[in-house]
Amino acid sequence: MPTATNLFLDHPDSVAPVTLFVDVVFDRPLDHAYTYGVPDALRETVGVGKRVECPFGRGDKTTEGYVIRVADVPPVRAVKNITRVLDDTALLDEHLLKLTRWMADYYLCGWGQVLHAVVPAGVREKAGTKNVTFVHPTPREELPNPLPSVTPKQKQALDRLKREGKPMDLHTLARMLGGGTAAISSLVSKGLARKFVERMERSAVPYGLKEDAPPLTETPLPPITMNADQVAVWEMLRPLLDTGGYHPFLLHGVTGSGKTEIYLRAIEEVVRQGKEAIVLVPEISLTPQTIERFSGRCGTVAVLHSHLTDSERGQYWRRVATGQVQVVVGARSAVFAPTRKLGVIIIDEEHETSFKQESTPRYHARDVAVMRARLANVPIILGSATPSLESWHNAHRADGYTLLSLPNRVENRPLPKVQLVDLRHEPKTPGKHFAIGPTLEQAMNNALKANGQVMLFLNRRGFSTHVHCPSCGHVAQCAHCDLSLTFHRHKSSLVCHYCGWETAPFTKCPACSQVSIRYQGLGTEKLQEEIEAKFPNKVVQRMDSDTMSKPGSHQRVLDAFREGLIHILLGTQMIAKGLDFPNVTLVGVINADVGLHLPDFRAAERTFQLLAQVSGRAGRGEKGGQVMIQTFTPDHPCISLATKHDFISFSQQELGHRREHQYPPYQRLARLIVRSEKETAAAEFAETLAGAFKAAVTRVTKPGTPTLRLLGPAECPVFKLNGYYRFHFQIQSENAGVLHAVMREVLSVAKSPHGVEFQVDVDPYSM
Ligand code: ADP
Ligand code: ZN
Repeated sequence: MPTATNLFLDHPDSVAPVTLFVDVVFDRPLDHAYTYGVPDALRETVGVGKRVECPFGRGDKTTEGYVIRVADVPPVRAVKNITRVLDDTALLDEHLLKLTRWMADYYLCGWGQVLHAVVPAGVREKAGTKNVTFVHPTPREELPNPLPSVTPKQKQALDRLKREGKPMDLHTLARMLGGGTAAISSLVSKGLARKFVERMERSAVPYGLKEDAPPLTETPLPPITMNADQVAVWEMLRPLLDTGGYHPFLLHGVTGSGKTEIYLRAIEEVVRQGKEAIVLVPEISLTPQTIERFSGRCGTVAVLHSHLTDSERGQYWRRVATGQVQVVVGARSAVFAPTRKLGVIIIDEEHETSFKQESTPRYHARDVAVMRARLANVPIILGSATPSLESWHNAHRADGYTLLSLPNRVENRPLPKVQLVDLRHEPKTPGKHFAIGPTLEQAMNNALKANGQVMLFLNRRGFSTHVHCPSCGHVAQCAHCDLSLTFHRHKSSLVCHYCGWETAPFTKCPACSQVSIRYQGLGTEKLQEEIEAKFPNKVVQRMDSDTMSKPGSHQRVLDAFREGLIHILLGTQMIAKGLDFPNVTLVGVINADVGLHLPDFRAAERTFQLLAQVSGRAGRGEKGGQVMIQTFTPDHPCISLATKHDFISFSQQELGHRREHQYPPYQRLARLIVRSEKETAAAEFAETLAGAFKAAVTRVTKPGTPTLRLLGPAECPVFKLNGYYRFHFQIQSENAGVLHAVMREVLSVAKSPHGVEFQVDVDPYSM
């Protein structure tokens, strides 16, 4: 429960006539607001953008909601009164309110749901709690015998503790002693002091600890002298940054072309004008190196990443909202940073699918950012080496984005040479199946011999991808999902990569009792074993979500790799993104075909992006570099064009295909998923809902109007997931307005039976 307001009313239904009213939205999928009266005692504190507590539903239950309007015109019907105002200041300004309103409309969910998702929990809960470590001297009777000797520093710490007479928090003590916590930790390990951790209300945290958000760095770095391409791009951008005004740019620049320098200049420019910048990057790129590049040049930088605690998030939000931050760098949710004078929005790697949120509100941060820029009337720069086809298409329309390009790497460094290795023709070792063919192995040997580092990429975790019985064909399946299980050797279990369900591996087939169970396919864990066998004297490190589950482990590995302590780094797409390692001279892709045959119209686009990104890892430094891609389908356009770094030809080809098959960006899609633990209930409601859509589509389709199509219903590609049976269908149109009108018409009256749920996904990314 929120604290800090003492405005609770004992008699919410006081008799005095109410003359002020508020419209309130709740964290529910409702598309309308509810009107409440404001009792006199709350008149002064209530306001748009604040939360209030109101009676909702039957009985005397109350719910918290967001005030979206204050008015003094009484509604036609009698209304209940709000009972409390929960915030001292508005959580969102007018811009963010407009933006969230638009999101609710566009993504077809409740405005209150959007507000709830946008305002960090740490802001809603105000203070929050945190862990505090305390130390105190060991009681005399429990002191070690004989007493260990201490250094002067340790003695000083111990004396200070004894003088205090009660436990002191570790960091305050360290600060008093003018240094780190090492001396105190030694006292603890020598048995002369004890420590314990206590969870405390943040407001109760002892002196000195309240401002403990990660420090904001400000070490100035000299600007780079731009090359001719960068100057040309900058000259297009600069006037618009000076005048302000909504203007979307798509910056297409190959990996290593110096896009970041352009971002930095844009930020410096707006900061000079006393304004603020928001920079969105994929979560995986939020490395200290990235952050340093921004903080070194651009004033006070706040970083919003997913590892922050609620209260840290809350602190950032407040710092931004009070104008203490000039640059917000963050993943998806940073698009909602409550800046006061926004000057520019930048999205690096704008094609990244991680910008799409896969839970309500299912927004795409890039699209929300473009809308935010429009509402705030500021320029926005989307950057990528492999732009999404949506953005690329937008940059080629008359009224769309302005295309800026950096076609070459800086200092004329060559793009890495990409060599395809046709796995169909690689020499095989009889009786053995190796993931690394002889060609790639040779290249690895050469790179390592020349003191280069190697990155190997395989987009599949685990040891074997599936476990099957050669006699009856039985494949080990998840109990809750229509997905085969993956064998993980280190924990000796079969794991579902979707829901996390685990089971013990079996030695004989559960279906036919045959004993020769086969473990097929290849995951990162098995690849690691093969590399260790082939390169016994090299340091090999695997990076995937199995090995990198502890916070900070990701960064430790990257640091060690950068320092040259690791020779071969292998991993999933985690290693493919935006990382800059000058000493990597060989990048190998174990199997380029992994994602190509998925039932997803973006499969080719994603494969191209992935190969291009992976290839961009090589040859960032002076040594140059090589990329080797193993594939069974070297002639597939997305593979052959990726080897030539030819995004433009790929996009032409793929856009032709999209147009022909009526896929985005030529058509807008909305997907509906119906799910239930009961298969027939899900199937029946999917039919009913699709029927309602069919009728609405027929009603609005007239000659000369934009077309609407309904596809399905059908079973989802993964039919059973997390114990739910799932059906889906899609509505599509070349006109977003028409699509939305039909969606709203049907959904406003759709009501699913008990035990059945449906989800709406506008511009869906996953299938
Ligand atoms: P991108 O984001 O396009 O992949 P970066 O911005 O990371 O490329 O630039 C790659 C490297 O080139 C960085 O180390 C950057 O500091 C450097 N760089 C950028 N512009 C120049 C320039 N004009 N001259 C020399 N080096 C540059
Ligand atoms: Zn599962």
